[in-house]
Amino acid sequence: MNYIKKICPICKNEFLVLTNAEEKAVYCTLKCLSESQGRLKIKTIHTIG
Ligand SMILES: [Zn+2]
Repeated sequence: MNYIKKICPICKNEFLVLTNAEEKAVYCTLKCLSESQGRLKIKTIHTIG
């Protein structure tokens, strides 16, 4: 399988994703994914848990 190097827009880290998952993989970790969503919904993020 082939991997492609991408740069996470949240933490600016480089990370590798499968080429066939490249379009879906934008963030290096779920933490960064949730952070990106949290920026859109800051008022609701503290209601979790
Ligand atoms: Zn990241």
